[in-house]
Parts: sequence; C-alpha cells; structure tokens
Amino acid sequence: MGASQTDVPGNEVQVQPSTGTPICPEHATEMIAHSFEPWEINQTVESGFRCANLTCGIIYIEGHAEGFYTLEPNGEVTPYP
Ligand SMILES: [Zn+2]
Repeated sequence: MGASQTDVPGNEVQVQPSTGTPICPEHATEMIAHSFEPWEINQTVESGFRCANLTCGIIYIEGHAEGFYTLEPNGEVTPYP
C-alpha cells in the first residue's frame, strides 16, 4: 500500500520514466507498442502494448479503458490482476 505514482486513482501503472512505456507487472520488462488486429482481441483497441515475452498474455491498452489486461488465446481480455 504505497502512494500511487500516477494521478489515476486506483490504477497504479508503472512506466519507464524516459519513454513512458508500460512495464509488464509480471516480468518487469518494457512492453512493446502493438497494433491489435480484430482477430487477436475481441474488443476495439486502437493502440496498446504487449509484453516482450511472447508467452506472456499481459497487454496494456490505451484509450478509454486504459490499463493492464490479460489476453486469452480466444481473444477475451480480463483486467489485470
Ligand atoms: Zn510479461
């Protein structure tokens, strides 16, 4: 329970200070900008990031539903954690 470093209540997002790139909460590595295809995810996402670890299902979505999600193989996303 530390103080949030962001101004988004209830959604602590760690980013790389130099680049603003989200950090994967599982792997502590910088995420990679990714354009989500319609077949890949079953909701409209204009832009976001995915983990550098290809086996990692954690993604970061930008926009109105900004935040970390887990992307299932069937395209379902669930808020992380
Ligand atoms: Zn990861």
